[in-house]
Amino acid sequence: MKVLVINAGSSSLKYQLIDMEDESVKAKGLCERIGIEGSKLTHKVPGKEDYVVEEAMPSHNEAIDLVLKALIDPEYGVVASADEIDAVGHRVLHGGAVYTESIKINDDVKKVIRECFDLGPLHNPANLMGIEACEKAMPGKSNVAVFDTAFGMSLEPYAYRYAIPEEYYDKYKIRRYGFHGTSHMFVSGETIRYANLPEGHQRVIVCHLGNGSSISASIGGKAVDTSMGLTPLEGLIMGTRSGDLDPAVVQFICDHENISVDEMLTILNKKSGVLALSGNLSSDFRDLASAAADGNEKAKLALDAFRHKVVKTIGGYLAVMDGADAIAFTGGIGENDCAMRESILKHFSYAGIKIDEEKNKVRGERAEISTPDSAIRVFVLPTNEELAIARETVRLS
Ligand code: AMP
Repeated sequence: MKVLVINAGSSSLKYQLIDMEDESVKAKGLCERIGIEGSKLTHKVPGKEDYVVEEAMPSHNEAIDLVLKALIDPEYGVVASADEIDAVGHRVLHGGAVYTESIKINDDVKKVIRECFDLGPLHNPANLMGIEACEKAMPGKSNVAVFDTAFGMSLEPYAYRYAIPEEYYDKYKIRRYGFHGTSHMFVSGETIRYANLPEGHQRVIVCHLGNGSSISASIGGKAVDTSMGLTPLEGLIMGTRSGDLDPAVVQFICDHENISVDEMLTILNKKSGVLALSGNLSSDFRDLASAAADGNEKAKLALDAFRHKVVKTIGGYLAVMDGADAIAFTGGIGENDCAMRESILKHFSYAGIKIDEEKNKVRGERAEISTPDSAIRVFVLPTNEELAIARETVRLS
């Protein structure tokens, strides 16, 4: 079975064609500048040079048409015709409080995705455009929606409710949803398998640390807590997002700087995080680490503040689950930044975590990095959201 995985953004569309016989990626690519002058498709097939098409893509419809053309191209294609694509899996940001897991798309599902536009204003409209473009280009194929919020739907009310008047939950379903759910689901499940944890009550903490960062706690693959909230702004300090802060800060800055709440939210999403703490040096941890090593105090502050929040969150989840069987690191930082991993894990010697310094040198590959006598096993486990979406698509098609 071949599954096309689509991640549609407002002006971009990423895709992968995965052969589920052996879960190999046959082709992948990116459409950029959809709806903007200078649209471009870059199509990658393992073992071949990139195939670049510069053609107008006024909407996602043209983008999908070009993707299909590339997939069946005599030279750069990987299938003889679109009929060989058995189903399409879509990354959808927000399923609101309605969808607790992935679902085969029909008109009712599209209605809910539309109703969640105000919860995911940047992503849900684009996700729906991607779905409708695929329905148009490949009529009759099974389309599956995999929601980034679904993993967080297993939280108990005491973990997902904000302590604000009930009417806001009743009227608008204001609650903690959690994001990166597909990644957390994939990594927690793969950690359980890779570590061969005994069936049942497997307590896993997944640290997805990248430009966007979040941590989840799960038992038996079901989330019990997660650090992002109504939006991806809550929780850890990220590349350019502030993470948690006193809401009064918003009012104070809006009043004193005479800016709107919308402007303030843009600042909190795009101009904050380690970028801000480093004095606008960089949101990239490689730059920050080398600047800190050269004595840059602001870069050091940014890294220290990031680590402090990660440590507090892991510690909180250890308390919530009365310990953990495994901790997994994923995302660009989690998979590659050995020094950050080591400095985070040093805080958990009280919990009996012991790291093997040699094994912790691993980058971007699955590995157990704790010592055999560590009380909690620690892993590096690269995330693969596309594969997670493809697996869900197979399950539901
Ligand atoms: P992601 O959003 O998961 O793609 O992660 C991107 C971030 O990972 C980048 O902004 C970097 O901060 C970080 N990153 C990637 N590679 C490395 C590396 N080798 N060492 C430290 N940080 C890295």
